[in-house]
Amino acid sequence: MDNIRRQFIKGGTALVAATSLYLLHDAGAQEELPQTKKRYALLHDETKCIGCNACAEACRLTNQVPQEVARLRIERTGPYGEFPDQYYRFTRVSCQHCEEAPCVNVCPTGAANIDRSTGIVSVNSWKCVGCQYCIAACPYHIRFINPVTHAADKCDFCKETNLREGKQPACVMACPTGALMFGDLEDPHSKIVAALNSQPVYRAKEDLGTHPKLFRIRAKAGEVSL
Ligand code: SF4
Ligand code: SF4
Ligand code: SF4
Repeated sequence: MDNIRRQFIKGGTALVAATSLYLLHDAGAQEELPQTKKRYALLHDETKCIGCNACAEACRLTNQVPQEVARLRIERTGPYGEFPDQYYRFTRVSCQHCEEAPCVNVCPTGAANIDRSTGIVSVNSWKCVGCQYCIAACPYHIRFINPVTHAADKCDFCKETNLREGKQPACVMACPTGALMFGDLEDPHSKIVAALNSQPVYRAKEDLGTHPKLFRIRAKAGEVSL
């Protein structure tokens, strides 16, 4: 944790770690992490993402997120390449559901927590006193104060909405290109485990030791055609 905090204070802003196959059974790395029954994770395939924002809109509607804030944004960078072969890259900006979560470690009331049954990093708005320690501690800058509840807020994989109804997260359901995949890392037969074991993926700021559960397939070139 000290290591994470030091690197954060140093202002480390590198967005990405090296691309590699995700080692699901890296026992050494898992030993120190909190044990949860499920370990829900999300995979964003940037090669399939067209930046349509359907995911962000579905998130807002499903979770009643006020207009002035967002749990999910798609950031566009580019254009890259030479005319006429130019392309953009789309990056998902949302909670990484860190297994070693700085936001949880600094929360003085226990409002920021990791749900032991799902591994989802959650906010108990009733316990939140609005001190904003978690907002300062998050190296991904994705937390905010909800202007309606006055509590800290962020993506919770639709834990209180779609997951409760047995559905996939709203962003996953809304994506027209199949760029998002959600599932349990503890289930060896899940599609997400197969996907992570079959191709190179990367995670943001992996070097901080936060063990993010938002995985990404790196964009190569151009937009996909529907
Ligand atoms: S991305 Fe930020 S808010 Fe989400 S679990 Fe990690 S530190 Fe906490
Ligand atoms: S999982 Fe749910 S809360 Fe999180 S970004 Fe997607 S729609 Fe929003
Ligand atoms: S809905 Fe899918 S394709 Fe559209 S921006 Fe979101 S992830 Fe990308």
